[in-house]
Amino acid sequence: MLRICLDCGMEVPLCHPECPKCDARLSTQSDGSVLHLDIAHHGETVAMAMSLLQQALEEAVQTPAQALRVVVGGGRIRDEVEAYLAYLQHSGELVGYGQEAGNRGAFILVLKP
Ligand SMILES: [Zn+2]
Repeated sequence: MLRICLDCGMEVPLCHPECPKCDARLSTQSDGSVLHLDIAHHGETVAMAMSLLQQALEEAVQTPAQALRVVVGGGRIRDEVEAYLAYLQHSGELVGYGQEAGNRGAFILVLKP
């Protein structure tokens, strides 16, 4: 999983506390950062994709990220993810979610109000 450095725009693996390009302390960047995850374009089954999503969500809520962008493709994974997100929002575990503007193959998950 990657996050975007707010200072320079570089995609940096989540395990890096500092941006390797501009040395910004990523842990102090909290406003509006968006994590990115693709669960549909490496041959994943629906079960694998859902497992990846659940694991990523657990990690994402521990970061300062405001949102998680999940690429789901256009097939069964998308349908399963949409149902799961509806459940999470209904149960209060997710602030909100929506389809990415103009892109049916990705969802934006809002992690923080
Ligand atoms: Zn940077």
